[in-house]
Amino acid sequence: MTPCIHPVRLPFVLPLSAEKSVHRFVYAYVIVGKQTCIVDTGPAGCEQGLVEMLAALGRSPAEVAWVVNTHEHPDHVGGNSFFQEQGRPQFACHARAARWIENLDAQYRERPLYGFDKLAGKAVRVSRLLQDGDEIDLGNGIRLRVIYTPGHSPGSVSLFCTGEDALITADAIQPVGGLPLYSDLPALRQSLGRLLAFPGIKTLYCAHSDRAFAGDEIPAIIQSGLDYLDRVDAAVKEAVKYGATGPEEITREALLRLGMTPPPVMPITIQSILSHLQ
Ligand SMILES: [Zn+2]
Repeated sequence: MTPCIHPVRLPFVLPLSAEKSVHRFVYAYVIVGKQTCIVDTGPAGCEQGLVEMLAALGRSPAEVAWVVNTHEHPDHVGGNSFFQEQGRPQFACHARAARWIENLDAQYRERPLYGFDKLAGKAVRVSRLLQDGDEIDLGNGIRLRVIYTPGHSPGSVSLFCTGEDALITADAIQPVGGLPLYSDLPALRQSLGRLLAFPGIKTLYCAHSDRAFAGDEIPAIIQSGLDYLDRVDAAVKEAVKYGATGPEEITREALLRLGMTPPPVMPITIQSILSHLQ
């Protein structure tokens, strides 16, 4: 089977405050069928990595027919406007992600993140709203099947690529020991359960992991994401038992119990921790 998915590592600096920033990376994907598709565009200003991969595959940014966003977060949509300026791609995302992708100001207001503007870039119009079960046909037998996997965000999807029997989960699987990042815990558990039962996955790609997973690793890595949610849950319950009250204090105490020092208490982690108490 010829590989059709080409992962691209996009390193970036995530500012946490005026004084502090951390180096992070995110993966985006060039998928080549008869048409060329980009899955996620990384943070704004990181487009060069994708342009280089396109060039290595003999394609140009102007030829990109589809830009699919796995979800609405800024480190996955920041390069959208770059590709809009280069050509005429169709922008596709889940129906529930479209509002935050088209209205970045609203996303920032409703999910504040330090340095958001720098990551998110300029908004684009979404031209195709995806639902669970939809397929994007790239030609040459390559289709992207949409699996709606909310929880990390309301509009998160995973994409199953028929050409390689590969699953792109973006941020759906919480990396063990990483920042808890989700808006809806029961939905995330359900989504991971669904991925666990999804048949025929040969390769698994996660946006913040430096390698793809194969074979028995696949159910193990999805299960590890579920197990980590249980660990966070236990930490939240301990924090409350200890006497922590109020969103910030509960978050601080829970993150401390997960070994995070200093605990990164900010709106995006507070939201995740509070979802354990609903
Ligand atoms: Zn995300």
